[in-house]
Amino acid sequence: MKKQFQAIVVGAGPAGSSAALTMARAGLDVALLERGTFPGEKNMFGGILHRMASIEEVVPEFWTAAPLERHIAKKGTTFMTGEASFHVQHETVNFDHAPYNGYTIFRPRFDRWLAEEAVKAGATLITRAMVDDLVLKDGRIAGVTIAGRAGELIAPVVVAADGVLSFIAKRAGLRQPKFDAGQMAVGVKALIDMPREVIDDRFGLVRDQGFANEFVGCTGGVRGGGFLYTNYDSLSVGLVFHLASLRTSAKTPYDLLNAFLEQPQVAKLVRGGRLQEYSAHVIPEGGYNMIPELVGNGILVAGDAAALCNATGVNLEGINLASHSGILAGRTVVEAHERNDFSKTTLKRYKERLDLSWVMKDLKGFRNAPKMLHIDRIYNEYPELVCSMMEHIYRIDGTPKTSIPKLIMREVKEKVGLKNAISDLLTAWRAL
Ligand SMILES: Cc1cc2nc3c(=O)[nH]c(=O)nc-3n(C[C@H](O)[C@H](O)[C@H](O)COP(=O)(O)OP(=O)(O)OC[C@H]3O[C@@H](n4cnc5c(N)ncnc54)[C@H](O)[C@@H]3O)c2cc1C
Repeated sequence: MKKQFQAIVVGAGPAGSSAALTMARAGLDVALLERGTFPGEKNMFGGILHRMASIEEVVPEFWTAAPLERHIAKKGTTFMTGEASFHVQHETVNFDHAPYNGYTIFRPRFDRWLAEEAVKAGATLITRAMVDDLVLKDGRIAGVTIAGRAGELIAPVVVAADGVLSFIAKRAGLRQPKFDAGQMAVGVKALIDMPREVIDDRFGLVRDQGFANEFVGCTGGVRGGGFLYTNYDSLSVGLVFHLASLRTSAKTPYDLLNAFLEQPQVAKLVRGGRLQEYSAHVIPEGGYNMIPELVGNGILVAGDAAALCNATGVNLEGINLASHSGILAGRTVVEAHERNDFSKTTLKRYKERLDLSWVMKDLKGFRNAPKMLHIDRIYNEYPELVCSMMEHIYRIDGTPKTSIPKLIMREVKEKVGLKNAISDLLTAWRAL
């Protein structure tokens, strides 16, 4: 195996492959190292690839070539309690033509495709390569070692794109050795096979249209939410929990997921489907305040490894941020090669690029979202309030009706208390 490269990327997820693709396109000799037997083998997520304008720049009209499932034409949110639910839905023709606003995808197929694009551009993909240490020379990073393989892979610069638990960023001293459970979430997902026609009929879809639904009030009191996304002939259904809250509850994700699938509102949507697999993964949900140091001498950190994930409670965006940060890291490495300078001072240009990009602007703009997501009432009292209010509004039973403003006031006072409601509203206002 060749031992010397101009750059090494650790991890062939969206961040790593985007970085490798950018550098290879610029003519650099790049090694893309992945611990799986193929890129994406070990990767799972909820399921929506949000629009990736940055990949569109590198691979024009990528949607004609990439392995995508359905485009998201409809989005819904369901507030639910054990007995009732209230559903809102949005649909627009603007999300129903290319370039689409988002697609459902399977990571093993998508990540493999993106890594192959990097290989086509000239990157060397090395799979079954679990990086287990950094090589240091004269106080700067100069390469990596791979578990079970002799020798070192040498390069003047390493891009750490090894995901949320980033061993590399920790080893380089850019991240805390221990994670704060209050900044992490865990997602569990069931993949349920279902014939394509059944999905089309059940969710009112035509052509390649897809549906994405989020659920609030379905996590047994644990902070978190649910999701259901349509693939061509399967459904991705799951829950995301705040790790600290899950730990305190002493409940297991598996039991909560089964309870979710059995709730009447969800059971009727998955009826007749065949469970294919379960999967789980951690998510960096701390947002802007969780971002570690992004560069050191000879190293840059991208994607989840740098906590570049935007969980606002309305959308969960990770792949698009990972890919864009990978591209910016790649461009910075190309520039560093032109200067033949891989010091922290030169690589800081990556942080400047990120700061100017939508990635950091979004993360900064939504930096208070984690605070809002820590309001426990969102997961119990508010879904109850919404469902109870709608029941009163829709009920016609020969008794006098209460006016809607009076009804809102009564329900708010009863279910959450006026003071709490005002304080929560202010927190949400600042967060969103
Ligand atoms: C349940 C759940 C739902 C989500 N839903 C969405 C969604 O709908 N939309 C969205 O945009 N985002 C979503 N996300 C977030 C998204 O999955 C991540 O933000 C994204 O995958 C980050 O990409 P990455 O390339 O930085 O890291 P990863 O995708 O984690 O890739 C890291 C890669 O590095 C490899 N690796 C790790 N360590 C080593 C090592 N030591 N040596 C070699 N290789 C290594 C891994 O095998 C992996 O291939 C979700 C996440 C979860 C868990």
